Amino acid sequence: MSFDLATRLAERRAANLYRQRPLLESPQGPLVQVDGRELLAFCSNDYLGLANHPEVIAAMRAGAEKWGVGGGASHLVIGHSTPHHQLEEALAEFTGRPRALLFSTGYMANLAVVTALVGQGDSVLQDRLNHASLLDAGLLSGARFSRYLHNDAVSLANRLRKASGNCLVVSDGVFSMDGDLADLPALCAEARARDAWVMVDDAHGFGPLGATGGGIVEHFGLGPDDVQVLVGTLGKAFGTAGAFVAGSEELIETLIQFARPYIYTTSQPPAVACATLKSLELLRSEGWRREHLNQLIARFRAGAAEIGLSLMDSPTPIQPILVGDSARALKLSALLKERGLLVGAIRPPTVPVGGARLRVTLSAAHSEEQVELLLEALAECWPQVQEHD
Ligand SMILES: *Cc1c(COP(=O)(O)O)cnc(C)c1O
Repeated sequence: MSFDLATRLAERRAANLYRQRPLLESPQGPLVQVDGRELLAFCSNDYLGLANHPEVIAAMRAGAEKWGVGGGASHLVIGHSTPHHQLEEALAEFTGRPRALLFSTGYMANLAVVTALVGQGDSVLQDRLNHASLLDAGLLSGARFSRYLHNDAVSLANRLRKASGNCLVVSDGVFSMDGDLADLPALCAEARARDAWVMVDDAHGFGPLGATGGGIVEHFGLGPDDVQVLVGTLGKAFGTAGAFVAGSEELIETLIQFARPYIYTTSQPPAVACATLKSLELLRSEGWRREHLNQLIARFRAGAAEIGLSLMDSPTPIQPILVGDSARALKLSALLKERGLLVGAIRPPTVPVGGARLRVTLSAAHSEEQVELLLEALAECWPQVQEHD
């Protein structure tokens, strides 16, 4: 009659699913200090190299001098400060939508949107591989919850036919563990035919994708009539923290009035918004970051194909190497670490059973030489995880 935590933990360890947190002793960057060692890292989501950018740091410092540290209260009480408001206006302009609403995390933004838009009697249709926060949001909403086959517009259409009430179709823009793009033109067409709304969480698309970093909707040239609810997170390519929802005046007002994860939480520190204003400016204007990143992606994919690695169909900085078995994925990660490279093994339940992988992520801060080092190490280590089982 008590919590048998020890058994649960032991079982997880035995299944090669035990998680550990590497201790980072340096800022984000290609070269990091982890657990007392200097390593070349390919596992951060800081895709454009802005998390430790001197101008972003200076903006945060100046923001703290001017606005202090704490947000103080929720946005609806006395926590909505000038930098938050300026950032919302800049994000609305950036996304070409009437308004944007700032959140402290992407997880909260997703919970907020889904629970505010659908409830009992409604339907929420999600890609099976959507981010955990979207799946959790669907369950919490109380709406009828249906998961369609990954990126499959036909599967979506079949489910839309059985849906009732208001229908919300929800997809990652770039799938976070696979790196592939949502087939938004096809998915949006099905949704529109059924008067459903589309919500896209483009946490990994903003920054790397689109001519000005506007993400998957810019990449495909889709507007607010195709994607009514656009979510972006600020902790990845923006290099700071938080998230936003962009959409119509009515959508944003609905969130402010009804979204509990928006209402009942303290606003993010205003200085973080100051930093994000600067990183947004760099993300939009410094196209060379995207160009360099795309060159690294092309080089990595070509090199990986030569070695015979199983890559996924990804044009993005997320370049997972599919291993399958969790123990083998851990072993490959450990072999790379012996050679001074840090690449995380991603295992179930983050990915499907049998889908363990090394999630390689590239950043504009990496050099071509660093990508060559990774390829050389993979060429040595990959055969070793093939032979021993
Ligand atoms: C990281 C991520 C989130 C969560 O954003 P946080 O700001 O880190 O809470 C949501 N959706 C996707 C697709 C993500 O990759």
